[in-house]
Amino acid sequence: MPNILRNLPSVSQLLESEPLKKMVQTINHGVVADGVRTFLDELRTQVSTATEEMPIPTPTEMAEKIADWLRNEDQPYLRKVINGTGIILHTGLGRAPIATAAMEAVLDISAGYASVEIDLASGERGQRVKAVERLICELTGAEAALVTNNNAAATMLTLSAMAKGHEVIVSRGQLIEIGGSYRLPDVMECSGATLKEVGTTNKTHLYDYERAIGEETGAILKVHPSNFEVVGFTKTVSTRELAALASKHRLPLIDDIGSGALIDYEQFGLMNEPVAGQSIADGADVILFSGDKLIGGPQCGIVAGKKEYVQRILKDPLMRAMRVGKMTLAALHATLLLYRDAEKAKQEVPLLRMLSMPVDNLKLRAEKIASQLSSSPHVSACEPVEEQAMLGGGSLPDQRVPTWCVAITPATSADALAAKLRAGSPAVMGRVHKDRFLLDMRTVSPSEDLAVVKAFEGLGSANS
Ligand SMILES: *Cc1c(COP(=O)(O)O)cnc(C)c1O
Repeated sequence: MPNILRNLPSVSQLLESEPLKKMVQTINHGVVADGVRTFLDELRTQVSTATEEMPIPTPTEMAEKIADWLRNEDQPYLRKVINGTGIILHTGLGRAPIATAAMEAVLDISAGYASVEIDLASGERGQRVKAVERLICELTGAEAALVTNNNAAATMLTLSAMAKGHEVIVSRGQLIEIGGSYRLPDVMECSGATLKEVGTTNKTHLYDYERAIGEETGAILKVHPSNFEVVGFTKTVSTRELAALASKHRLPLIDDIGSGALIDYEQFGLMNEPVAGQSIADGADVILFSGDKLIGGPQCGIVAGKKEYVQRILKDPLMRAMRVGKMTLAALHATLLLYRDAEKAKQEVPLLRMLSMPVDNLKLRAEKIASQLSSSPHVSACEPVEEQAMLGGGSLPDQRVPTWCVAITPATSADALAAKLRAGSPAVMGRVHKDRFLLDMRTVSPSEDLAVVKAFEGLGSANS
């Protein structure tokens, strides 16, 4: 054993040092002592396997290193992020930020008991979906509704309840994969229904569906191809036509509309997003959509449609495994309430606020932040630039919105700057483009502008 190892300070010596003594008081003796042991073990391994002589830190340096490392380990994995990526529904960043009203409802409902499954009028056991069902029906025109953990769950549950052991007819042009882990054929297989593909990649006709209907058919499924587009010679069958065909054969038509628009998003420059109420009006028996995409609410999946089908789905054993808790119900209810008045929704649902923010406003904020950041030692040059933000959240890559960014030419490298900003609290994320680090003002809330500037100030000197 190298001599040097005999001279390492002991665990108890290190625990007596100033930085660690304080930590023992604030964290816990066992945790800090474990940290010290792990550190010393690693150091011993490093020294005994090193090919050349290693500089050994002094006991004070060691104690400080251990304290830093423990502080870092103690940071929660889930941390607040300022989203400067320009991806509005960033799945990696938790998709939609929720409205203040939704946040307040969660606070109010989650700290105590709540009437999750109790009908307070009768005192009897009720269904938890009652908290939001009336509003979903009002906003979509459906007769009944239920809520699951997300749209993937809504799809699996609906297919299981309505078509387990039967065939479900789907156009070959609608067999989507979203974000790698959502693949319609796999979800279908898990549900116990059998996929019956019809038509071709680019064209599916009404007669393709009609010919596929037989003894084994359990349902017809239409899926919104959210993240791709077939151009050129194409043919799809409308919801109206499919609804007529399904009803003629006494089959349910399920319509997975994906993003779940409750209002028309063409006013924000987003094209071809199916509106929930339109699908119900066109005759879909059951529609499926996410709560945290275009609605801008909490993560959940919504199933809405005919009462008999919703009742059947509620009775499926998978329902229990996919139901949501009181926090989701509270946030969803408060978010949906805002949609009763479209103008109010545009002001109060953060997603709609971001989409309707005038470009001039973004430009002014980008100019101001650029001038404030230009003196940072981490920034060698900085200017406002006109750019394109993206909707994201499994939507088409060409669903873009005009925006302004702060474009930073870093003193070191764009990747190094990005890594430093991610380590901050709150973390700041942007996008790296041609060696520049861009902060997109469309996805940064005006209330976060100051925190962006502070994040740069918190980076310390440029060469540390
Ligand atoms: C996003 C999407 C899903 C998956 O929804 P999650 O809420 O993420 O589970 C399913 N179908 C379509 C058409 C989608 O766009």
